[in-house]
Amino acid sequence: MRAKKPIRLLPPELQNQIAAGEVVERPSSVVKELLENALDAGATRLRLEIRDGGQSGIQISDNGCGIPPEELELALTRHATSKLSSLEDLQQIDSFGFRGEALPSIASVSRFRISSATESGEGTVLEAEYGRILSTRQAALPKGTLIEITDLFSNVPARLKFLKQPATESRKCQDAFIRAALSNADVDFEFVNSGRPVFRFLAGQTLRQRLTTIWPEEILEKASDIHFTGEGLRIHGLTGDPSTAQGRADRILIYVNNRAIQDKMILSAIREAYRGRILGKEFPQAVLFIELPADEIDVNVHPAKTEIRFQDEGTVFRAVRRAIIGALDYKAQTERVPLGQLTPQASPQQHVSLPLAAPQTRPQSAPTTAREVPAHAYASETHAAKFSSARAAQELFKNNSDNAPSRPEPAVTPLTSDSFAYLGQFALTYLIIDRGDELHLIDQHAAHERVLYNAFRTQSSKGDRQPLLIPIDLSLHRSQVTLVQEIWQQLTDLGFSLELKNDQSVSIMAVPTLLSPARAKEFLNDVLMEKAKSMEDLWAVMSCRAAIKAGDALTPDEALSLIEAWSGLPDCDYCPHGRPVVVRWTTGELEKLFKRRP
Ligand code: ADP
Ligand code: MG
Repeated sequence: MRAKKPIRLLPPELQNQIAAGEVVERPSSVVKELLENALDAGATRLRLEIRDGGQSGIQISDNGCGIPPEELELALTRHATSKLSSLEDLQQIDSFGFRGEALPSIASVSRFRISSATESGEGTVLEAEYGRILSTRQAALPKGTLIEITDLFSNVPARLKFLKQPATESRKCQDAFIRAALSNADVDFEFVNSGRPVFRFLAGQTLRQRLTTIWPEEILEKASDIHFTGEGLRIHGLTGDPSTAQGRADRILIYVNNRAIQDKMILSAIREAYRGRILGKEFPQAVLFIELPADEIDVNVHPAKTEIRFQDEGTVFRAVRRAIIGALDYKAQTERVPLGQLTPQASPQQHVSLPLAAPQTRPQSAPTTAREVPAHAYASETHAAKFSSARAAQELFKNNSDNAPSRPEPAVTPLTSDSFAYLGQFALTYLIIDRGDELHLIDQHAAHERVLYNAFRTQSSKGDRQPLLIPIDLSLHRSQVTLVQEIWQQLTDLGFSLELKNDQSVSIMAVPTLLSPARAKEFLNDVLMEKAKSMEDLWAVMSCRAAIKAGDALTPDEALSLIEAWSGLPDCDYCPHGRPVVVRWTTGELEKLFKRRP
């Protein structure tokens, strides 16, 4: 062991350099801190310029309140801040900064110059190197602050080694810039990278306007606006359409009281809201602003201030989930425009009989034209009744104020046989629909799954039961006994009646009416394989087991009832597992496919 040296206080430069390890990890953290300082200073215009990924140069100028000459040195002293003076203040933070660590940290690992004036014409310039102040002088400057940093981390080789390629560091700086620009729409922002102007956001733009330069047009156009007030907080922003989901998780930007943060709980609430609309490996794009009383959060969790703690996580989780589901459902419902009559172009001559498989589904003649098929021909009451739980679901959706809290509910407009023609079943799997100007192929299993799932969801899972004359026995593994006990109540709610036998097997005494005994057994097996962890999972598995399968022949009226029930659902485009239910082609798209048009 080394001989023990006496305890000594570290010199201030070294204290700052150590603190810098946490506050300024890379050039983009410098950018973030300096932008926040400018915004805290009330700037209405700010300009960021970087060179070489920020490592050779970062410059930020603002027209904020400036720093008085006598405070300039103090600004470079650790734990010196103008934003906080008591412990009570810490519970009511309304500025981005409050720890007084950024400037001293940055100055300790770079060559640093700050020029600042509280009144135009009366400024001060201070220069420092690796935390040591070299000079201070008077200068005629416009009101505001200019910070110039060069040779970042040049005295900390270990940190330098961890930096990525300049292009990557540039992108991270750009991300920090965008995060600040999106949440301060009333401020003019400019970003220049190695002499090249990259972004200019004018003051007063809307969030959508700022996003036009960042998000692809299609994603932005399809995105839903979020407006939510409830559970003691307010949420607004934009959330992407499920069809534009992609594989990256970092395209979700979360702000709490305008502070950009990272938060796993909120991320999972967002994904939960998309559950059943996107695939497990996909993520939506979203910008989410959450506002709640300052004393219900703790922002002092980490020096970088990008994490916060919520007093009541559960409430925030629920609110975020509701806000997003509301936005998605609202959009889905308003966009389902009334289909009206078939357009005149859909004249009989244009409907050619397709040589479809599955003659057994159409015992008489297949419908060959849209007009030859009377609207009511397939609308059999009996078959409609088969899918009637979906009707109940629709009714409930209409009245469920949870889903779009601050807006009137638009009426759901299901496809009716007046406005589309059912052309038949293909490969005993897909239903072919002529909608006049679009051709739709519907996956019958996925559509039926969606109908059943939504019915479970709205009816709070209560299912009718059908007793079995001969109970079915399932033998259980030890761990499965616990699992069955854990979800006993949910299974009962679904319509099962079970009896546990000496901890080794379970007898199924009754099954939900929706499931045949064989399907019920498959369902329980799925559940015991832990394919279901929540009530939603149980509904999804049960819908999957109860739904008609690919390969099942459907009579035309069965197909019609299914389509009608399905098309009125707000989230009809996706099955509960997130796979698409329908593919569509417009006449234009078909023309392109056939190369009739470029
Ligand atoms: P914090 O932001 O946590 O207070 P900083 O080290 O980032 O700590 O900044 C120290 C102080 O310097 C701030 O409290 C503020 O008074 C002042 N300051 C920093 N940047 C600016 C700026 N761009 N305009 C005006 N004042 C600034
Ligand atoms: Mg600060």
